[in-house]
Amino acid sequence: MDNPLISPRTESNEALVENVHPPGWVNPEPAASYNLVVIGAGTAGLVTAAGAAALGAKVAIIERHLMGGDCLNYGCVPSKGVIRAARAVYEARNSERYGVKCGSDIVIDFGKAMERMRDVRAGISLHDSARRFKDDLGVDVFLGGGRFTGRDTIEADGKILKFKKAAVCTGARAAAPPIPGINEAGFLTNETVFSLTELPRRLAVIGGGPIGCELAQAFSRLGSEVSIIDNGEHLLPREDRDAAEIVQNAFIREGIRLYFKSKVLKVSKQANEKVITVEQDGKETDIRADEILVGIGRAPNVEGLNLEAAGVAYDPRQGVKVNERLQTSNPNIYAAGDICFPYKFTHTADALARIVIANALFMGRQKTTALVIPWCTYTDPEIAHVGMYEKEAREKGIDVTTLTVPLTDVDRAVIDGEDEGFARVHLKKGTDKILGATIVARHAGDMISEITLAMTAGVGLSAIGRTIHPYPTQAEVIKKLADAYNRTRLTPFVKRVLSTWLRWQR
Ligand SMILES: Cc1cc2nc3c(=O)[nH]c(=O)nc-3n(C[C@H](O)[C@H](O)[C@H](O)COP(=O)(O)OP(=O)(O)OC[C@H]3O[C@@H](n4cnc5c(N)ncnc54)[C@H](O)[C@@H]3O)c2cc1C
Repeated sequence: MDNPLISPRTESNEALVENVHPPGWVNPEPAASYNLVVIGAGTAGLVTAAGAAALGAKVAIIERHLMGGDCLNYGCVPSKGVIRAARAVYEARNSERYGVKCGSDIVIDFGKAMERMRDVRAGISLHDSARRFKDDLGVDVFLGGGRFTGRDTIEADGKILKFKKAAVCTGARAAAPPIPGINEAGFLTNETVFSLTELPRRLAVIGGGPIGCELAQAFSRLGSEVSIIDNGEHLLPREDRDAAEIVQNAFIREGIRLYFKSKVLKVSKQANEKVITVEQDGKETDIRADEILVGIGRAPNVEGLNLEAAGVAYDPRQGVKVNERLQTSNPNIYAAGDICFPYKFTHTADALARIVIANALFMGRQKTTALVIPWCTYTDPEIAHVGMYEKEAREKGIDVTTLTVPLTDVDRAVIDGEDEGFARVHLKKGTDKILGATIVARHAGDMISEITLAMTAGVGLSAIGRTIHPYPTQAEVIKKLADAYNRTRLTPFVKRVLSTWLRWQR
């Protein structure tokens, strides 16, 4: 590999590339016609191709860079790998309160932490490998850029693939920040930050959304002096303010500097450092850093696809336009994943891919509007959410009852020393129907699925109250929400009836 597809050139990265873009790969001769041609082999494309092929369809998939897409190579997998190392540091540093002394001088080997992440990523990549798709699943894998040449043809590697149905799954990338001087000074994005082999002593993160927050906390724990610059009033603006504030307070305690309501005016390079000039409350401040990580905005990969030739409508900022059945303006062409959907997650890409298979190949009528979509930001503590926020429900004219149980009420959270957080549920007023929920807890991402299942299956909160939860677990907080709901049903009248009944029984 003279020009490695992913750097640094290490054994684990070579093993990764061997799976997801094998050197010397020979593209097959195209079949006369395909049931389905998929462009883009990230989560959306791989799940679409694998599912369709397993059901007997003749499928081709086209990938111009690394199979596995963002999630495997530049997103979920490497970020959670770095977060795992950072958590180990945090545990070691804070072990004394549990009676375990690790000594004052913990040695952090950043290079080793990153290499473990790359090893783990290479191991996981087998699942997304070109050979697995070709040999085990019978999919024709084309490595190279794909572009439409007509309403039912795509070109890949100079070969024309004719299709009955196609799926555009080309994802999104970090949007170029419109900040004067930043290109000249240089900056990191999710596509380059996982290639670092040395810890930046000072890291400035532009953007306090999920990507910025997860990596800011991880790098801070690994030893960088981290600043987050955001133009909003608090971190994670999509989340409830009190939920975000719990994470924010943890960040402040851990020494992360937060600059809110701050507009980045310019970036300049001075000697060996990068200087970010921000305007806050009308005053200009310079923030000095060794590296800048940009975590704002995603741009859809629509360029080069020649969507016009296929009659597929798109917006350069929002991506490919689809209806709720994921059909584009060309009824034979569908889209799934970050290229077309506002909820940009791996699990939504997976869910959309399943809708495409049903609708494109089996005359299905599945709709994205029927999906119940959870998400989680993997800070410590994590914030997980599903369904509506209270504000959203009120905007839709739905009356809600909101119940919140703090983790201080949950024995296991107290025992673990992880009692900062809460679980909150929004119910349709007068019923136990769950409209949405937020959990702030160290393992919130694992805990939210119980509520997602209830919402998907149309099961009310009372059923969760009847479900026995093992003691002591942090998930008991969800049962406690159900207990809180049951208490709301204990009106003064019901209480009087029960007391009268019990008096008779004495
Ligand atoms: C740092 C970070 C952390 C994240 N963490 C999480 C997380 O913890 N959980 C979660 O659910 N989500 C997470 N995400 C989001 C998640 O990675 C994406 O939502 C997911 O990868 C979207 O999958 P996709 O298939 O739509 O697109 P992608 O994964 O982007 O795949 C698209 C593929 O299409 C290829 N392609 C593009 N154009 C062409 C073309 N013309 N021809 C051929 N191939 C083409 C690209 O090379 C790419 O491989 C994270 C994202 C980032 C950046």
